[in-house]
Amino acid sequence: MQEQANAIVQTLKSKGLRVTPQRFAVYANLLSRIDHPTVEQILTDLNKDFPVSSQATIYSSLQALREAGLVREVLLQEGVCRYDANVQPHHHFCCQCCGAIEDIAWDTFKFIELKSLRSGLRGETYQVTVQGMCDACDERSDRCH
Ligand SMILES: [Zn+2]
Ligand SMILES: [Zn+2]
Repeated sequence: MQEQANAIVQTLKSKGLRVTPQRFAVYANLLSRIDHPTVEQILTDLNKDFPVSSQATIYSSLQALREAGLVREVLLQEGVCRYDANVQPHHHFCCQCCGAIEDIAWDTFKFIELKSLRSGLRGETYQVTVQGMCDACDERSDRCH
């Protein structure tokens, strides 16, 4: 636990970020989960042991982490911004029933040829979002209708 805390502090410092309790807590929370939480979900989680957190401080911590390249925004539903501490290239699976979002390894899909875009468009990167139903929802699929 202490080792992990040191690693987080080192990562923040290596990106030139001042280590504040809020930034630390937000980044540690994101690293500990794989569900791509919203600001509200992070807030709920942190308030369990950090009752001073407000949505505004979480936002500003996320902003700083994002500018440092440690966190990225994931926009898979209109108007819902989720956060991801996995900044390596990867795709997402989005369950249309429960809204769960799961990472898909980058090499799951065959290479997409960006050169096949019409001339004039210069593709640089892409990300695949697969929509469907997760296994948990599949098992109780009657709840989804
Ligand atoms: Zn689901
Ligand atoms: Zn992700």
